[in-house]
Amino acid sequence: MAVGEETTIASAKVKIGVYGFTGCAGDQLIIIHTEDELLNLFNAVDVQSFVMASSNPIEGDLDVAFVEGSVSTGEEREHIQDIRKRAKYLVALGNCAVSGGPQAMYTNDGTFADRLKQVYGDSKFVTEPLEGSPIDEFVTVDFYIPGCPIDAPQAFAAITRLIHGSVPEPYPHPVCHECKLNENKCLLMDKKFCLGPVTAGGCDSACPNNGVACVGCWGPNPDGNFEEHFKLLESFGMSKEEIVRRIRNFGGLKILKHIEGL
Ligand code: SF4
Ligand code: SF4
Repeated sequence: MAVGEETTIASAKVKIGVYGFTGCAGDQLIIIHTEDELLNLFNAVDVQSFVMASSNPIEGDLDVAFVEGSVSTGEEREHIQDIRKRAKYLVALGNCAVSGGPQAMYTNDGTFADRLKQVYGDSKFVTEPLEGSPIDEFVTVDFYIPGCPIDAPQAFAAITRLIHGSVPEPYPHPVCHECKLNENKCLLMDKKFCLGPVTAGGCDSACPNNGVACVGCWGPNPDGNFEEHFKLLESFGMSKEEIVRRIRNFGGLKILKHIEGL
């Protein structure tokens, strides 16, 4: 759906579901820990399912499904497909759902079957193991709320818009923009491995604010100059393999897709 296009979400109580797949559950935790907003949210919507908050889900039709975590088993693949059928809008919540997360860091590095055998030998599994993947590898996703974990103000702004029938707006600038607003010294000046120029903003430059380089967990900033940033990092004396390895640790899969030849 394009930004500005009218949605058909009813203005009465919107039915939502919050689901958790493979991940650390940090995004659900952010929602639950945002006490100032939680009562307003629960008053405004009809929560049908919230895996971390209730053990009594109602698995019916939904207006909006929020899905945290990557898909890494056959069971999860079936579950996400079922949620997709029941939900008018499907929202990927957090880095693992959006980009696959750390569990997807070895995607495209040899075959999954080989790596599985190396770790587990000939063990039998109760459910089919899959390469950890973002949920949009299996279903159409309408909106993305990135982050590792999500940022509460950004996420609640997006959730508020969704439940009132509007389209959430992605933060339009890279992490560097927020970093400048926070008056940080640029870590690239000290040849630190920072992905701020090619990473979508919205975290208020959480890592550089504390002298830590951005590892790209908000995913790619579509306007980033990926090729040039890669060359800049190479000029710091890092090998191509090392740069790729570090980029794909957090949300890097989608950043790497912007760099030709990788
Ligand atoms: S420290 Fe990182 S995020 Fe901040 S301006 Fe420099 S490159 Fe951008
Ligand atoms: S600065 Fe980068 S790594 Fe840190 S939270 Fe923001 S997007 Fe994620």
